[in-house]
Amino acid sequence: MSKFPPKKTPANEQQENTTAQALRQAHFDAFFAGANAGMLIFDRQLRYVQINEVLAQTNGVCVADHIGRSVREVLPELAPTVEPILQGILDTGKPILNYELVGETPKQPGILRYWQASYYPLLDENGLVFGIGGIVIEISDRKQAEFLLKQSEERFRSLMEASAQIIWIANADGELAIEQPTLGAFTGQTFDDYKGWGWLDAIHSDDRPHVASLWSVAVVNRSLYETELRMRRHDGEYRYMSCRGVPILNADGSIREWIGANTDITARKQVEVELRERNALLNSILESTPDIIVVKDRQGRYVAINSNVANFLGKPIDEIIGKDDLELMSPDTAPEMMAKDRQIMAAGITESYEEDISAHNETPTTFLTTKAPWRDANGNILGIIATTRDISERKQAEDAIKQSEERYRSLILATSQIVWTADAEGRAQDIPSLRAYTGQTEAEVMGFGWLDAMHPDDRERTNQSWMNAVQTKSAYDIEYQIRGADGNYRYFQGRGVPILNEDGSIREWVGTCTDIHDRKQAEIALAKAKEAAEAASRAKSEFLANMSHELRTPLNGIMGYAQILQRSKLLKEEDRSRIDVIYQCGSHLLTLINDILDLSKIEAQKVELQLTEFHLPAFLQGVAEMCRIRAEIKGINFHFQSTSELPIGIRADEKRLRQVLINLLSNAIKFTDAGSVTFTVSFATERKIRFEVRDTGTGIAQTHLQAIFQPFEQVGDRKRQTEGTGLGLAISQRLVELMGSTIQVQSDVNVGSIFWFDVDLPQANEWIKTAQADDRGQIIGIKDRQPKIVVIDDKWANRSVISNLLTPIGFEVSEANDGQEGWEKILEVQPDLIVTDLLMPELDGFELIKRIRESETSKDIIIIVSSASVFETDQYRSLEAGGNDFLPKPIQATELLQKLQKYLHLEWLYEAHESPILTAADTNEIIAPPATEMEILYELAMKGDFRGIVKQAALLEQIDPKYIPFAKRLHQMAKEFQDEEILTFIQSYKQVL
Ligand code: ADP
Repeated sequence: MSKFPPKKTPANEQQENTTAQALRQAHFDAFFAGANAGMLIFDRQLRYVQINEVLAQTNGVCVADHIGRSVREVLPELAPTVEPILQGILDTGKPILNYELVGETPKQPGILRYWQASYYPLLDENGLVFGIGGIVIEISDRKQAEFLLKQSEERFRSLMEASAQIIWIANADGELAIEQPTLGAFTGQTFDDYKGWGWLDAIHSDDRPHVASLWSVAVVNRSLYETELRMRRHDGEYRYMSCRGVPILNADGSIREWIGANTDITARKQVEVELRERNALLNSILESTPDIIVVKDRQGRYVAINSNVANFLGKPIDEIIGKDDLELMSPDTAPEMMAKDRQIMAAGITESYEEDISAHNETPTTFLTTKAPWRDANGNILGIIATTRDISERKQAEDAIKQSEERYRSLILATSQIVWTADAEGRAQDIPSLRAYTGQTEAEVMGFGWLDAMHPDDRERTNQSWMNAVQTKSAYDIEYQIRGADGNYRYFQGRGVPILNEDGSIREWVGTCTDIHDRKQAEIALAKAKEAAEAASRAKSEFLANMSHELRTPLNGIMGYAQILQRSKLLKEEDRSRIDVIYQCGSHLLTLINDILDLSKIEAQKVELQLTEFHLPAFLQGVAEMCRIRAEIKGINFHFQSTSELPIGIRADEKRLRQVLINLLSNAIKFTDAGSVTFTVSFATERKIRFEVRDTGTGIAQTHLQAIFQPFEQVGDRKRQTEGTGLGLAISQRLVELMGSTIQVQSDVNVGSIFWFDVDLPQANEWIKTAQADDRGQIIGIKDRQPKIVVIDDKWANRSVISNLLTPIGFEVSEANDGQEGWEKILEVQPDLIVTDLLMPELDGFELIKRIRESETSKDIIIIVSSASVFETDQYRSLEAGGNDFLPKPIQATELLQKLQKYLHLEWLYEAHESPILTAADTNEIIAPPATEMEILYELAMKGDFRGIVKQAALLEQIDPKYIPFAKRLHQMAKEFQDEEILTFIQSYKQVL
């Protein structure tokens, strides 16, 4: 073993030095041997001078085998690397520090080990390098750790690069402090953008507050951060992300940093949404049906149901799921149902059947059930799907239909009628019962073939009526004759009704043909008889009409001469009274004839109501006045009462209404000797006016009440009967019937009678207009004047009618209640004309006239006396007293206007109406035929020859069209047997000629 080179010292010191040197060497050797690191010393030839055990072991060569040998000899593999370095130290005298060596050791071949070697030059006193000292430390463990770290970091980086996720690292404060490549790549943000809390900008604004707070909380609590959010991708699209972040803690528990990952879960979200929608759809399907739907697993447990199941079982869904039929259904039906399920699962086929099911202990319901296997995507049977429908109502309906059809069929069999059916277009289906009658074949009857068996006269009409019914979908009802198999025709009544579909279209027709032959024959016979009877009745009426006229003509002579004789001064009183009898009998006969004529006209339906509009109060007043006079003559009281609510103007047949009222009132007066007659007009109902005549007369026995309305029926006292004809009530009743009412009677013998009737008389506002119209139309004013008129009458109604008639035309009308007031009014207004009544309280009409005529200022006033008095003497008296003219009540508007025009020399203004230029024939102007023709007509009229008049009228029309209006008028009157009117008409034109 070579030694450390000794120092050259003087001889005395030599011993000392040697000892110290040996000590030093011993220290050095101990240090060498004890060091944990490998140690060595090379000489300048790079031979091992010294090496310690640690390094010798590392080299795999014992210490002794190193000493004196070179590196090349001991470590031939290592030498090429180490020698130049060592040589460098020898040459430069500079150390090499921390030089890393790598290699295998002979002890552990195949394992790379790492060392760190530091080599120092060993210098002698002269500063010359005489060797190299080295320290070698094994750094294999450190190297290994470094390598592993590097590897882990590399892996992390690759993971980050390879991951679709966003991996982020935040600092302990939760801020992004370093670059986050995956985040930047995803959001398109730059580091500056996402730095700190900038990443929040890429979060959907709706999620942002929530995310920010969650993150803050996690950072503060050092807890797991986990959320879902929407993050804006670089292309602007928001993606659903699942985020997780975990804190990485230092050894002392403080947060070093946060690491997290965001995963794009948009696709999953979409799938979730789709799944939710599919579930909702499935649910809707389940719930949209009236059916009960159950899904059961292989064990029969309910897996899914709709709410119909819950309703049926009366349990909430939660309590049903997981249970089976045995637990839910009646024990009678459950095993059977489950067996069915197993059968279907085994067979793997769908089946429908009817079953009676009952929930626990309830009466079973009939269901139509369909059961199908429930399969997974691979077709494996997972259980059963049962759909079931309550068909109990349908079942009942079906049963009802069956029953009804049976009934219908039995009815057809039982009925003697022919029952038929036809399709919507009217084509008949086979009608066996019709065929049995007509002898047609099935083919002949079908469709419209049945029409062939119809009587030729009825065929077209029947076909049309049938087609019309089919088109209008209306019931069909017709009578026709059908030829039987024996060739004879019989009458049938065909009836049919369409059976409609819900949309209103025809489904089919059902009908019958009923044999009405016998009834029809009877009807025909009856109709013939009726026609004959009507003809006879017409003939009778015509005969009566003609007859009455025939009778009247000679009566004219009798009555005329009776009156002439009455005036004769030559007659003795005795003869005169005989002549009076002739006159009375004559006039009775005349009334009788007139009444017969009237009644026969009514019965022959020749009378129609002539409706006009008139002033009701004045009309009633007029009627009452006439009757009051008769009653007064007889010494009985007469009362007229009318409610103030009555309409002013009404629309009715004035003449006929008056006729009826006068008849009733006359009877009442005639059959009353003491007491009173009361005429009352009031409202019976809201619309109907009641006319009532009440007397305290003889009354009528109950048994006679019906009879009195029959023609010529007179009951009771004989004496009185001679006064009447027995026709008045018959005529009145028929007239009131024409007015839509009936005369009623209530009577007690010796107490009195009440006759009344209620009629609906429409209110009229135009009565003034109609009243004012003359031949030239409606009078609307007076040319250039406003005459002043004073009307004096104690009856409001009478004044009202005149005032209402005249004011609108342009008269200035003043009214006065009696003579005295009238006189004052005259002085006040100085009228042009007065209209005065005769009988008035205070100052009567006669007195008033006298006073006017005697006065200086007013003596020239024109006075028209208006009275209901029937006595001619009154008329004469009033004229004698100084009246200019007499106007009978009730007042006729045209008559009043004519008189006013005449006395005041007025010119009327008429309502303008455009009339087209007419030819003579078209105008209504009546032109009388020549005198010779008129003579013939007069003769015919006198004879009452209506037929002759009609013929003559026709002849006139041919002579010249200008006579058409005249002829028409004549014809009309002749048709209505208006003999009197005809005579007056002819006479008026005869005079003109
Ligand atoms: P006449 O012309 O006889 O009055 P009517 O037809 O008017 O004919 O009356 C028929 C009969 O009814 C009368 O004859 C009379 O017997 C009876 N009659 C009618 N009205 C009354 C009455 N108010 N009081 C008593 N009897 C009456």
